[in-house]
Amino acid sequence: MSRPPFEPVTERDIRIVSAQLGRPARDVVGIPARCVCGAPTVVATAPRLSDGTPFPTFYYLSHPVATAAMSFLEAAQLMVECTELLADDPETAASYERAHRDYLADRESIAVVPELAGISAGGMPTRVKCLHALAAHALAAGPGENPIGDIALQRSTWSPSVCRCPDYGVDDEVPSA
Ligand SMILES: [Zn+2]
Repeated sequence: MSRPPFEPVTERDIRIVSAQLGRPARDVVGIPARCVCGAPTVVATAPRLSDGTPFPTFYYLSHPVATAAMSFLEAAQLMVECTELLADDPETAASYERAHRDYLADRESIAVVPELAGISAGGMPTRVKCLHALAAHALAAGPGENPIGDIALQRSTWSPSVCRCPDYGVDDEVPSA
């Protein structure tokens, strides 16, 4: 796991993320979290894309098995459960609000985009709207940083410590002409 400043992103990382997303990965500023095998699980994207669009989701869950696991948990109503937890437990609510501020600080260390002021991701600081975004933040920042992201990862059938990566095809030899 890592937060800014990030290690340089390799060409291979970009190829894997592009395969994961099913489109060319653009404006990548770092790989904040990886599978045990080294493949990216979370991609950090510039807060303003090169075409000028503001992009709030700094930490994006790119791993296909992880995103499927989060979609399953969303369908299983984990967001409802987490929303109730935030309402009932002031400590979790306070820690979720801290996670929101840390998220903004991480993103603003790359670039401050006025249109995104106060906007983080996943429903923070008071709502639970996207487990993918919250799990991505938890993977980047480490345990204890994003309480809802931590719960999502605990309940997840996917874990970054057990490689279930598909063959992304990025190491195939390019046939010579
Ligand atoms: Zn892997």
